[in-house]
Amino acid sequence: MTPETHMEKTPGTFELIGMDGRARAGILHTAHGSIETPIFMPVGTVGSVKALAPDDIHAIGAQIILGNTYHLYLRPGDDLVARRGGLHEFMKWDRPILTDSGGFQAFSLSSLNKMSADGVEFRSHIDGSRHMFTPEKVVSIQRNLGSDIMMPLDVCLGYGASREDAAKAVRRTTEWAARCRAAHPVGSPGLLFGIVQGCTYPELREASARQLMDIGFEGYSIGGLAVGEPKNLMMKNLRALDPVLPQEKPRYLMGVGTPLDILHAIETGVDMFDCVLPTRNARNGTLYTSAGKVNIKRREYAEDDSPLDPKCSCYTCRTFTKAYLRHLYVSKELLAFRLNSIHNLTYFLDMVRGARRAILEGRYAEFKAGYEAMYPEEDLLFDAPEC
Ligand SMILES: [Zn+2]
Repeated sequence: MTPETHMEKTPGTFELIGMDGRARAGILHTAHGSIETPIFMPVGTVGSVKALAPDDIHAIGAQIILGNTYHLYLRPGDDLVARRGGLHEFMKWDRPILTDSGGFQAFSLSSLNKMSADGVEFRSHIDGSRHMFTPEKVVSIQRNLGSDIMMPLDVCLGYGASREDAAKAVRRTTEWAARCRAAHPVGSPGLLFGIVQGCTYPELREASARQLMDIGFEGYSIGGLAVGEPKNLMMKNLRALDPVLPQEKPRYLMGVGTPLDILHAIETGVDMFDCVLPTRNARNGTLYTSAGKVNIKRREYAEDDSPLDPKCSCYTCRTFTKAYLRHLYVSKELLAFRLNSIHNLTYFLDMVRGARRAILEGRYAEFKAGYEAMYPEEDLLFDAPEC
């Protein structure tokens, strides 16, 4: 399960080592080691991938995890983390960490928020205290955390925003990205990605990408998708960005998604993904298997002595029966969270590892078709008529 070893190169170097159609296989180098892409990044919101210790995260073969700037800034505070040597040292995770900018949560979790040209003012969802995120502030927080891959402050709108509002959001996102770049010049420790916005307007997406490329970043994130828009519209926007974004830089689709979302996006040249879906579903008892989704709380598993997924090599599947996993879940035992999370994350990581092998062997379409057959209803959503 250990990733292949690579000659370490300058952090920020991205090696594109194979393509199949538009799908890419690469290696991204960071100060904490290299990442084989396509990659799925488990979410460790407040400095912990919920229910898992670093040993578990290593054992499932995760190469990079994500931390949330908004949460870590409010509690325990980025200064406190910095005094402990940064987030890697604090949480004892020695591989790469990506952090978001915190802007998304400042908007979605805060009871009061106000945006101006200078940044986002918000109230803490914990104690109501007032705070301000400026482009420079979010860079400073992420530097305090010791992030390997940092995000600039951006303006992310929900689905259905008008073209005028979307264009304004792109302009402000570009201004803020330029300020973040100035605060964190090329060569500083930690890579800085630009975030492409533009809602579901492909021409705004393209303009956003070109403006960010003029500034120059170590990679390009795609934000503001999977926010409620139809699947085919997400794909249309990803396809529009593929020929625009530079081949020699990694691409990260933020907050996505389901297995099929990820596989379809890989087909349009995306390299990196994160989502709370596998861990959140694990805690809800919804488990992904090679035979489709399993709801482990169902009575039919009460005396089922087979493994959850005989094709899965994770600790949970190697060791326990469905009957035991169901018992833990219905008894609300804490071990259920850990075992289910180990399995679901292994499923997502196995999938992207399989995708990488398929790309390198020139059989990606066939590989993806196997998953489409597993989720036939969801797959129809990608082929819906244009809206
Ligand atoms: Zn498993």
